[in-house]
Amino acid sequence: MDKSKLAYTHTYGCRANVSDGEKINGMLAEMRYGFTNIQDEADLILFNTCAVRENAENKVFGNIGALIHQKRRNPDLIVIVCGCMVQQEHITEKLYKTFPFVDLIFGTHVLHKFPELLNEVIINKRRVTDISNTETITEDLPIRRESEFKADVPIMFGCDNFCSYCVVPYVRGRERSRKPNDIINEIQGLVKDNVKEVMLLGQNVNSFTPSFPELLKEIEAINGDFRITYMTSHPKDLSRNLIDVIANSEKISHHLHLPVQSGSNRILELMNRGYTVEQYESIINYARELTPLISITTDIIVGFPGETRTDFEETLSLIKKIRFDSAYTFIYSKREGTKAAELPDTVTSEEKSAWFREMLDVLAEIGDTAYERYVGKTLRVLCEGEGRTGQGQFTGKSREGVIVDFNSDNTDIIGKFVNVKIDKALKWAVLGRST
Ligand code: SAH
Ligand code: SF4
Repeated sequence: MDKSKLAYTHTYGCRANVSDGEKINGMLAEMRYGFTNIQDEADLILFNTCAVRENAENKVFGNIGALIHQKRRNPDLIVIVCGCMVQQEHITEKLYKTFPFVDLIFGTHVLHKFPELLNEVIINKRRVTDISNTETITEDLPIRRESEFKADVPIMFGCDNFCSYCVVPYVRGRERSRKPNDIINEIQGLVKDNVKEVMLLGQNVNSFTPSFPELLKEIEAINGDFRITYMTSHPKDLSRNLIDVIANSEKISHHLHLPVQSGSNRILELMNRGYTVEQYESIINYARELTPLISITTDIIVGFPGETRTDFEETLSLIKKIRFDSAYTFIYSKREGTKAAELPDTVTSEEKSAWFREMLDVLAEIGDTAYERYVGKTLRVLCEGEGRTGQGQFTGKSREGVIVDFNSDNTDIIGKFVNVKIDKALKWAVLGRST
């Protein structure tokens, strides 16, 4: 292949998709593609899509539609759509019909076949679609990582939880865990290459088999100074044992991203989440008892079908009680094929938007003072780069996952750990000086 061919790839959605995107880029690099950020100069354009909410899908349709002019100018341009969206048959049909210039569509299960499928497009000059369902795990795909000192490591794929609003189990298939040895070997290699933070990825890392706490202990035992983070934890499977492991560890992050989704037990049941508000609170209390500086973040959905003002107010009360450090917030989006799509939805979208704004105000007010507990403390920070806020020379993240902007006399610290004494709390960040 001509060495000068340039690829423009864009990934939407969650960390699992970003991780797939790094493998796609790894395979493209092996096929000797170079990379560009300028869509107009690309010979190959790839969208790695997300299906979790409808507006993410609409954005992709818009972006693909806009390619028609470039394809007219350059008929050799290769256009590829992959990821969760196309794993839904009705979407792939629509894409195929609406956009005849899309050359290749492939789903989440056949990532490893990408080079083969692309060759078929190039050699046979025909459109190719592969959204077949093969729930195997392919190890050792090439990876083109986005950071030199931070790495995402998927430990499991798919999801078996079938939360009633969620499309993920349909587009990512059944839950399957990688072999602990494969994970350990990969992380040993990363640590040797000077990676300082590994993020273990799964839709529900707590249900990793044989055991997530045991896996964490094995990773902790790898020699070297590095940090272990993970996402996402599902409250129904988060055991006290896991919190004990975290509290006794040197390397595991003290940040818990624990999506609660709603503060109403009635809605949690309709969502098929498998826990109550009381169980959720109890596990948070235990985590705070053992690791007092821990930061707690969450995901919340507003406007689930049948949610009433009373249910919504219960969510507000829970937010105020837990005082989340931050939250990803979403207005419910109906996903075809899910259980919730069949439930009657009576609240208007105007009303949902008003509730949503009300919730953001409550979260913002908590955010104003949440980080004050770090003032006067010394946090261990992985320096990620030069500061961008103008309030410190450098920026990084603490073990608690908190953004720390700080000054330091030593300037050779990017990609290294430094201790930072915190002297001021801002909204969503803290300021300090290295000690
Ligand atoms: N596996 C993770 C979350 C994956 S999706 C977990 O269970 O926590 C990320 C977030 O998107 C979810 O936590 C949820 O808050 C939101 N989400 C998923 N489906 C949604 C939908 N149909 N409408 C609105 N938000 C949704
Ligand atoms: Fe979706 Fe629930 Fe699985 Fe998370 S646990 S991916 S919200 S079905």
